[in-house]
Amino acid sequence: MKKIAILGSTGSIGTQTLEVVRENNDIAVVGIAAANNIDLLEKQIREFAPKVVAVWSEEKARELRIKISDLSVKVVSGMDGLIEIAVLPETEILVTAIVGMIGIRPTIAAIEAGKDIALANKETLVTAGHIIMPLAKEHRVSILPVDSEHSAIFQSLQGNDGKSIHKILLTASGGPFRGRKRGDLEHIQVEDALKHPNWEMGRKITIDSSTLVNKGLEVIEAKWLFDVEMEQIEVVVQPQSIIHSMVEYVDGAIIAELGTPDMKLPIQYALYYPQRRYLPGERLDFKQLSQITFEEPDMETFYGLRLAYEAGNVGGSLPTVFNAANELAVCKFLNREIRYLEIPEIIEKCMRNHKNIMNPSVEEILETEQEVYKQIESRW
Ligand code: NDP
Repeated sequence: MKKIAILGSTGSIGTQTLEVVRENNDIAVVGIAAANNIDLLEKQIREFAPKVVAVWSEEKARELRIKISDLSVKVVSGMDGLIEIAVLPETEILVTAIVGMIGIRPTIAAIEAGKDIALANKETLVTAGHIIMPLAKEHRVSILPVDSEHSAIFQSLQGNDGKSIHKILLTASGGPFRGRKRGDLEHIQVEDALKHPNWEMGRKITIDSSTLVNKGLEVIEAKWLFDVEMEQIEVVVQPQSIIHSMVEYVDGAIIAELGTPDMKLPIQYALYYPQRRYLPGERLDFKQLSQITFEEPDMETFYGLRLAYEAGNVGGSLPTVFNAANELAVCKFLNREIRYLEIPEIIEKCMRNHKNIMNPSVEEILETEQEVYKQIESRW
């Protein structure tokens, strides 16, 4: 029996991870964590019988304790609670499916406790990759990518030497506004941006996909995961989301992973790596597939991607500014407090105002996040 814990069990990745667990019969879920959704947490507790459950607010944790008072499950709260789930002694793999930089501390704690990480929470790697990757090496733990593009790259690297990578070709659907220009995006509403053409995901990442900021976060994530330079990562728009990413080797060979868009594949691959398991679902049928097309990303209209390249190239605390400004801007857009086009504007202004710190500590990263939030709150 493989034992896992999940941070963010009620979200898009969390629930799909539990579907993978349900479809197999040799994974036990020992701990789960969520922010607010205690109704779904209760259902998950009754189905998967974890030992410990974390809820972000103590008030919600109290409500949950009452709901499950017939069970002997420990309910914890706050950052201490998240960390308790991350380091549970039985856990072999921690699935980090929480959204945002809140994942940094629990991920570090899990690595220090020797847990392998199935990493979906890209914001942690974007802002603290310089801490996470060496720490993982030191503690001999694996960082197994869950993001579909990074899983595709990871799969395309199997049996090959990472040193012979010439280029990573990171594919992008282009999002719901592909082909539009800046002027066409003036009146975009929350509902328009939440319609992703190919993937069903959480709200924040769906907005990030529409602005191409998600692709920018993925470029920085790939730099850390695969130890390559930013210039070695090229974004290729492939609207059908059939090719999940590719690796070009020094001899010119290109190896790719293709399939129908289904997040359960990368999740299952991370949980069972290096084994492959049967996965029910739709299969790619080349006879039905009339074409796969390619385009260059439009970094003028969707300049969040250009800003991500800049942040990743400069490094230090600038990726934290990029990420934190985006997190709050997206939150404000979802709350209808700012316009769609203000998202990249806010990111750029925060980046221009920042005095970069090279090699920031976790404290400095979190301080930078707070400074960015303060700046945004005082201006927007
Ligand atoms: P969702 O918004 O769907 O889910 C987020 C999860 O995190 C929820 O379970 C939420 O709980 C929980 N959560 C949020 N804040 C806290 C907190 N303070 N304490 C405890 N739990 C918390 O996000 P996604 O599943 O879409 O994304 C998760 C991560 O995976 C992101 O980093 C995203 O970029 C990445 N990712 C997602 C993909 C996808 O297909 N969805 C693909 C690739 C990467 P609650 O439900 O109670 O709010």
